[in-house]
Amino acid sequence: MKVIIIRYSEIHLKGNNREFFESALVANIKTVLKEFRYDFSRSNARYVIRNFDEIYIEDIVDAVKNVFGVHSLSIAEEVPSELKEISAAALAFSPTSGTFKVITNRADKRFPLSSMQVSAEIGGDILDAHPNLKVDLFNPEHIVYIDIRENGKTFVFGETIKAVNGMPVGTAGKGIVMLSGGIDSPVAAYMMAKRGMTLRAVHFHSFPYTSMQARQKVLDLAKIIKKYTLRMTVDVVSFTEIQTAIHENCPEEYMITIMRRFMMRIAERIAKLHGAGAVVTGESLGQVASQTLESITSTNSVATIPVFRPLIGFDKDDIIEISRRIGTFDTSILPYEDCCTIFLPKRPVTKPRLEQVLRVESVLDVDTLVDNALKSIETVVID
Ligand code: ATP
Ligand code: MG
Repeated sequence: MKVIIIRYSEIHLKGNNREFFESALVANIKTVLKEFRYDFSRSNARYVIRNFDEIYIEDIVDAVKNVFGVHSLSIAEEVPSELKEISAAALAFSPTSGTFKVITNRADKRFPLSSMQVSAEIGGDILDAHPNLKVDLFNPEHIVYIDIRENGKTFVFGETIKAVNGMPVGTAGKGIVMLSGGIDSPVAAYMMAKRGMTLRAVHFHSFPYTSMQARQKVLDLAKIIKKYTLRMTVDVVSFTEIQTAIHENCPEEYMITIMRRFMMRIAERIAKLHGAGAVVTGESLGQVASQTLESITSTNSVATIPVFRPLIGFDKDDIIEISRRIGTFDTSILPYEDCCTIFLPKRPVTKPRLEQVLRVESVLDVDTLVDNALKSIETVVID
């Protein structure tokens, strides 16, 4: 019978957190597999999926491979622990050319042959069937694994499929990710989810200056990252009143600096409403004028909870590479306008001084503007 073996990262299993980690991981695996029929079982330090419809095997593997906390998978044949059966299964997994070796693990000490003897027997059978193959014990191109278990069954498998690793979502607190329509913030969301953070998103739009397509693009991005975050809700906030107020009352070169401070205040208020302990952004040091140390200082100074910037030390090229890999890139580069592109100053300050920012901002009724923005929230649950 074909089965799928799922391994998780041992490193997270130390101490009392084991059960907490495992139950989150199992729940997340079950979430991504909710459309399939299968049996799930835990067996020491790994999980086994059985009795699924084999035409979906690739889909199941692909889904589980993207669950944070999963280290690797193997598609295996599960056979009764008898040499003849093991040999037949091993032949099905064996390469036909190049070099190989057989690795046997014998948990069942009642099995009549030692693991070395099993490897030699099965290796011999494989060589008989494929005379072009060569055994290489030290640097083989292919490995056939035989795992003789205590319950009288044996797993036989070849390739190990690498999974994403990371920590299960739901084990590292909750954050509000500021999701623009750009390349960076979806990657930032992915990176925090990979560390186990549960995420909710906030998006600022400036209707009617920004279009419904620009808003939809963000919801589309949210849908893609939901594949990794497993749940996703977006609070869409109207930013028009705030931008207009800044535009009319503050020197234009401070537009972006002050906008950022409003975004941060609102994100933090949303965090508090939903029991989130952090705000996440896609900022990368020095990438644009609003991401210099001075600009980040002025944005950060309105925050009272941690602001995580997982891309802070990344080059744009590296961010693009991740965004392609996680599937957000093609959507991110669609050419719809962003709220930051309206009222855009010709020469934004690149090194705002905090005292100057505070002075410039002091003409605004910050609390009322923030409250109004919060009242404008339209909550979109991504399904
Ligand atoms: P991105 O590619 O994520 O848009 P960027 O390089 O364009 O980033 P900025 O536009 O300076 O950088 O934005 C920095 C961060 O601020 C973004 O990564 C995002 O977290 C947040 N942000 C910017 N605009 C918005 C918005 N309209 N709604 C929500 N968050 C935003
Ligand atoms: Mg942007």
